[in-house]
Amino acid sequence: MTPERFGERLLAWWDEHGRKDLPWQLNKSPYRVWVSEIMLQQTQVKTVIPFYQRFMARFPTVQALAEAPEDEVMHHWTGLGYYARARNLHKAAKIVSTDYQGDFPGTVEALQALPGIGRSTAGAIAAFTMGQSSAIMDGNVKRVLCRFLGIREWPGASHMQARLWELAERYTPKQRTGDYNQAMMDLGATLCTRSKPSCLLCPFNDSCIARLEDLTKSIPASKPKTDKPVKSTVMLMLQQQDGRVYLEKRPANGIWGGLYSFKEFEDLDAAQTWLDLKGYRYQLEPWACFRHTFSHYHLDIQPVLARLENDVTEVSEAESVWLQVVLNDIEIGLAAPVKKLLAQIEKTQ
Ligand code: SF4
Repeated sequence: MTPERFGERLLAWWDEHGRKDLPWQLNKSPYRVWVSEIMLQQTQVKTVIPFYQRFMARFPTVQALAEAPEDEVMHHWTGLGYYARARNLHKAAKIVSTDYQGDFPGTVEALQALPGIGRSTAGAIAAFTMGQSSAIMDGNVKRVLCRFLGIREWPGASHMQARLWELAERYTPKQRTGDYNQAMMDLGATLCTRSKPSCLLCPFNDSCIARLEDLTKSIPASKPKTDKPVKSTVMLMLQQQDGRVYLEKRPANGIWGGLYSFKEFEDLDAAQTWLDLKGYRYQLEPWACFRHTFSHYHLDIQPVLARLENDVTEVSEAESVWLQVVLNDIEIGLAAPVKKLLAQIEKTQ
């Protein structure tokens, strides 16, 4: 099937069955589409919708986001994960607000120069809101192309990137590009799903190679397996006699950058030595160890509650807070395991 015929069939299917009322499809603007595209990286539509609505209610314009304190931006991202996305969003908002007077730049290249905006996000903003004929490449597009064309290699392999982009550009039409991109995402999200594609309802079921050769279970190929390394850490939960708990802000780079967390140590001995050197009086209560998994490694976390018996003010030079733990009231960004531990502390109060 020619790319032209593919596009016509896809658009005819989308006109009848596509999603047209997602929150970011209404009142479309580069800002609204950009935020949705960043949230949708690694996260499903139904999870994103409530986060997106809260985020837009609080930061309705790129200027509002640029002017907001970083802690508040991180707070609105808590639960979405991959926090570098929120930090980059904030940085890019400041650049658009100051260097471009609040108007997003009008080319894919200039959009891509902003922090956190890759080729696909730039393509989506340009196609959805500026009428440009730019291609996109998310997991849905990759899956549909790989199945339709019978590509058996793992699409994440570095040599596959250029090939998939070349195919995406060849198939993306010059007219109705935004609708076509949305249609590819919708087809991938609603019919050509990873585990159970609904081929009988698909406009390509007479010509899709994965369907004709019964390869839908093996395409797209999975990443070749490698065992993730395991790291470990001790999280020291310092608690004052009045119940307040100590949290400090992590450096901007590295895991959970810019979020608040407990002090961490290599092992229990190191934590205890630090407490003794500080001259604190305390009772230690080790809690059950648990595992948090990142994309590249597992982190085994040993939480330890240190109930302080003398009042402590300054703990370190890092930006920090002593919090009364009432989870609903906390307005700072927290990593998921820290939030979980605070919930446990709240229960014991
Ligand atoms: S026929 Fe099936 S596998 Fe092929 S594109 Fe359609 S839904 Fe996906």
